[in-house]
Amino acid sequence: MESSLENAHRQLDIVAELLGIDPGIHEILKHAKTTHTVMVPVRMDDGKVRVFTGYRVQYNDARGPYKGGIRYHPDVNLDEVRALAMWMTWKCAIADLPYGGAKGGVVCNPKEMSLAEKERLTRRYTFMISEFIGPHRDVPAPDVYTDSQTMAWIMDTYSVIKGYLVPEVVTGKPISVGGSEGREEATSRGVAFCVRETSRAFNVGLADASVAIQGFGNVGANLAVFLQDMGCRITAVSDSTGGIFREKGLDIGKLLKFKRDTGSVVGFEGSEDLSNEELLELECDFLAPAAMENQITEKNARRIKARVVVEGANGPTTTEADKILQEQGILVVPDILANSGGVVASYLEWVQNINRQHWSLEEVNRHLEDKMVKSFDRVHALSKEKGVSMREAALMLGVGRVVEAIKTLGLFP
Ligand code: NAD
Repeated sequence: MESSLENAHRQLDIVAELLGIDPGIHEILKHAKTTHTVMVPVRMDDGKVRVFTGYRVQYNDARGPYKGGIRYHPDVNLDEVRALAMWMTWKCAIADLPYGGAKGGVVCNPKEMSLAEKERLTRRYTFMISEFIGPHRDVPAPDVYTDSQTMAWIMDTYSVIKGYLVPEVVTGKPISVGGSEGREEATSRGVAFCVRETSRAFNVGLADASVAIQGFGNVGANLAVFLQDMGCRITAVSDSTGGIFREKGLDIGKLLKFKRDTGSVVGFEGSEDLSNEELLELECDFLAPAAMENQITEKNARRIKARVVVEGANGPTTTEADKILQEQGILVVPDILANSGGVVASYLEWVQNINRQHWSLEEVNRHLEDKMVKSFDRVHALSKEKGVSMREAALMLGVGRVVEAIKTLGLFP
């Protein structure tokens, strides 16, 4: 199967051809500008020292400081982080944010670590990358298995090194230490806006629309809440332990409590068990992969029966699968557009921090909606104008803006 990096490179090649990008600039865009690998020693609770591998890939900063999440997962590897950093670069440009793109990750299994071990890991990793990050250099954020608490530790460690509080060094912080209202659920709110705009632009009714969501973490669970509020029927959800199905729709409020109490969605009253593979292949109006990369591949793409795939996760569809979905007439709202609400809210948090302000939830959501709807409209208009898919249009918009910045800046020396 194609790796995420191969997927990202193939997308870049496709858009380079569509845009007629200069070969020299295409070459620049194929590579991350800087890659940091750090070996992070951590004293575990049993007194032994373990060394974890950590990465920070700074992909491109032609449009502004690097920006991107940090992931804690046993499968983290450098190529995956590179791919995610590349996608962040295009995503920030599509949303027209003054940011470049980056990504970080530590190879670890946070589910097997205590809170104190995670804190020591985070602080040491931050210490080791502290000279490469900063409010105007590189601004991390949460990703899979990192959260607002992780961001608070990063901010505190960085601030201790500087000798004064620097809330603007990371986004996705708890509200008590400079976090923004609405940041936690902003990615899902943005995905929900994309679902709403898709329903308008492509005439897919929202009332009673059936939705299957893969992943029930930050993105998946909040998305389920928003879409249920919009009148959709969430028929299936899954997490790393398995999936559940209920034709009439799951009660998401009760399911959230059940997941909090038991740690899993499986076994929820009134639902049938379902594998993650089965969930992807369900007949539904909207399928939202909101877990990991490479979930829709050439192996299962022909069995996908959703009308619309809206990508909450990064890179859930391989290039091969993307082609098959297109042939089958399935609309794909691509990750770099659909899940950009997270980085938009991160930007709003950064702006508030720099200006020492705290905005109301209404104000944050107003800006978020405005940005999401604008991006959606631009991508949709471009896709119609050029006769390309929504993904190709999103890439044309994002990569095109980065190319423009590189050309305008020129090469120095
Ligand atoms: P999370 O850690 O909060 O949740 C991940 C969820 O996926 C969990 O429910 C986990 O059980 C589930 N999962 C893991 N492996 C799975 C598998 N094989 N099958 C089914 N479910 C599985 O992470 P998140 O922040 O919700 O991120 C999910 C995706 O969204 C990632 O691709 C991430 O890069 C992307 N994303 C997140 C944000 C954000 O702001 N958090 C922003 C943009 C994109």
